[in-house]
Amino acid sequence: MDPLNILMLGTQGSGKGTQSAKLAKHFGIPTFSTGEILRSEIEKGTELGKLARSYIVQGNLVPDDIISSIVRKEISKDKYSQGVILDGYPRNIVQAETLNDFLDLDYVILIDISDEEAVKRVTGRRICSKCGENYHMDYNPPEEDEICDKCGTKLDIREDSEPEAVETRLKVYHLQTEPLAGYYEEKGMLIKVDGEQPIEKVYQDILNELEKHGLHNQEN
Ligand code: AMP
Repeated sequence: MDPLNILMLGTQGSGKGTQSAKLAKHFGIPTFSTGEILRSEIEKGTELGKLARSYIVQGNLVPDDIISSIVRKEISKDKYSQGVILDGYPRNIVQAETLNDFLDLDYVILIDISDEEAVKRVTGRRICSKCGENYHMDYNPPEEDEICDKCGTKLDIREDSEPEAVETRLKVYHLQTEPLAGYYEEKGMLIKVDGEQPIEKVYQDILNELEKHGLHNQEN
């Protein structure tokens, strides 16, 4: 069977991570998130992590050459031989052109939400620094205000979810990442879905659109 390579596009808070995980399970292929890799480097305190953090906390993109070499190395691993769901890379045209050198994408899924909804979703996120539990003040609040249900620790805002960083990230998205939609649309690869619907409905819309675009019987 040919590998199946899918790119997820959308602003922060659009549900890319959630939908990537569902699609990965459905098609039996792994996801790869550049944001997750960078966050784990930050946690481990590596040189790469320190460098990446200086960009991430401000809401800016990590330089293309750094991120592209991470992705190129990762994607060459055997575990991606049947395909991959890419979440967070490419994020601009330069990265998309670089990706063309080492991976053929099949589909690009754009999960569309308004900036207003993105801000609401992202600024409501909380994380427990002690046990790692995630919350959302509107959609998944803790029982006691700002306190972790599991371990009683005061909840934190993720560094890149501070309002200023969120605003910068949205600007960067519109300026640098959004042009990718047109880039892939011209190649006939773009699928656009309304991300302001319940998670299951967004997921069904994606599967239906993939089928319309010719993806059949690849389910594992
Ligand atoms: P994410 O979890 O995908 O929203 O990524 C979090 C942060 O990591 C972004 O705001 C960027 O600072 C950085 N990052 C992730 N992917 C890329 C990329 N492809 N190019 C540059 N920076 C990235």
